[in-house]
Amino acid sequence: MAAKIIDGKAFAAKVRASVAEHVTALKAKGVTPGLAVVLVGKDPASQVYVRNKGQQTLEVGMASFEHKLNASTSEADLLALIAKLNADTKVHGILVQLPLPKHLNSDLVINSIDPAKDVDGFHISNVGLLGTGQKSMVPCTPFGCLMMLRAHHGSLAGLEAVIVGRSNIVGKPMAQLLLNDSCTVTIAHSRTRDLQSVCRRADILVAAVGRPEMIPGEWVNPGATVIDVGINRIERDGKAKLVGDVHFESAAKVAGAITPVPGGVGPMTIACLLANTSTACCRSLGLPEPAGLTA
Ligand code: NDP
Repeated sequence: MAAKIIDGKAFAAKVRASVAEHVTALKAKGVTPGLAVVLVGKDPASQVYVRNKGQQTLEVGMASFEHKLNASTSEADLLALIAKLNADTKVHGILVQLPLPKHLNSDLVINSIDPAKDVDGFHISNVGLLGTGQKSMVPCTPFGCLMMLRAHHGSLAGLEAVIVGRSNIVGKPMAQLLLNDSCTVTIAHSRTRDLQSVCRRADILVAAVGRPEMIPGEWVNPGATVIDVGINRIERDGKAKLVGDVHFESAAKVAGAITPVPGGVGPMTIACLLANTSTACCRSLGLPEPAGLTA
């Protein structure tokens, strides 16, 4: 039987609608959540992401503050800007677009953001809070995957989850979130032996590798839910194409449910960034957190 296609675009639109409703309620109390995005340099993909973030921030009724800095910006100047944003009461969320130019120390920069405004969830305090099951800011891409998994399965308790990829921004926080939801979690990576049989035991298979169509249908446990985080630009039949880390056509014949690329995990990332900004705003003011928009 063909897999159910999990429509991330439609899901993200619902999340944004909930955020917009929440923002309207906050505005009625005289508060407008604000998101500051800092872009250093002119990386084309980053410019597109930042533009989309800015547009969607305004669409849900939040204030958007964009800071575009030269590629040669010094670390001291970037840290001074972050200190200013940390102190600005109109700014509830701060995102520094990665990757940063090589002369800037990303860890230092990210850890200079006030953890309460760290809507990307990359600050070491938020990583530690998530790792110990405490309230934190949750990285947006894994948060989006979690929302879709919860909506599809209801409870995730006891399910066998395999995550392929152990990056700090996707694989590790995804594992932590699924563990917090009582899955039995395996993290696979480039040194994993017999990846096929590891993948074959998954009820939930999350692919976050960055290798086009690396996971074929034969690696998928029949009936499993497949979440494809990969975004790979390839050329096929002379045309540019976006594909995931999973071979969609073969996997969709075996899986119970699957996210497509594009239109799966991708749209959820910005939606969750907006949800996190709403949450950060409420936490900073001691207001109730938005229902259904926190991990
Ligand atoms: P990284 O390059 O940081 O991590 C890739 C991971 O995959 C590493 O842990 C690596 O293992 C593992 N890996 C590489 N090759 C293999 C292999 N042959 N077998 C098993 N594991 C392997 O990538 P990211 O986590 O940042 O991103 C992963 C993908 O997700 C990319 O395509 C990226 O574009 C996409 N992405 C999508 C987002 C979205 O919004 N949808 C957001 C963020 C990322 P090792 O650690 O051993 O090297």
